[in-house]
Amino acid sequence: LPEYAFIGRSNVGKSSLINMLTERKHLAKTSGRPGKTQLINHFKINDNWFLVDLPGYGYARVSKKSKKTFQKYITNYFEQREQLVCSFVLVDIRHEPQPIDMEFMQWLGENGIPFCIIFTKADKLKPAVIMKNVHGYLQKMTEDIWEEAPDYFVTSSSKAIGRDEVLSFIDSVNEEFFANKKA
Ligand code: GDP
Repeated sequence: LPEYAFIGRSNVGKSSLINMLTERKHLAKTSGRPGKTQLINHFKINDNWFLVDLPGYGYARVSKKSKKTFQKYITNYFEQREQLVCSFVLVDIRHEPQPIDMEFMQWLGENGIPFCIIFTKADKLKPAVIMKNVHGYLQKMTEDIWEEAPDYFVTSSSKAIGRDEVLSFIDSVNEEFFANKKA
């Protein structure tokens, strides 16, 4: 089955987003404490795809050693990713582009791993500011590294924004995946 990986800096809102997408509140635990999702979890959704919950990166208060361990988990996953069709990189809509996210996306690109960006916590900003931040973000990406901006989604887990968009995207990629498999 096709897999979709969810990854981002600790506290970006990944657990909340996963809960919103799956509507199974018990699935991924949320907490106000950063760095809590520590292992790779696979969740089977609708019997036709896997949601892969990767550990949060870039949490300042973990030791160097556990940072290395996290990185190893993450790179191992991507290197063995036979069924991975797309990765969602989560970024907080309120923040400027962060070097750690840029480096990570560059690494995905270099390894030929398709990704989209999911902007989180959109309820915290006014629509005009959301637009401005999104465009600033994508512009910075295309200035620095990328020829083309990636697909992106604007979401809020507390206001249930962006859920249908992300799920329809996954559905359409799944359709393609299964069509190619048959062919
Ligand atoms: P994770 O560490 O990336 O899994 O982040 P969590 O899902 O645990 O969320 C981190 C913090 O951000 C928690 O306090 C959440 O309540 C808050 N949060 C997550 N998503 C949203 C959102 O869409 N809107 C708002 N306002 N807060 C959010």
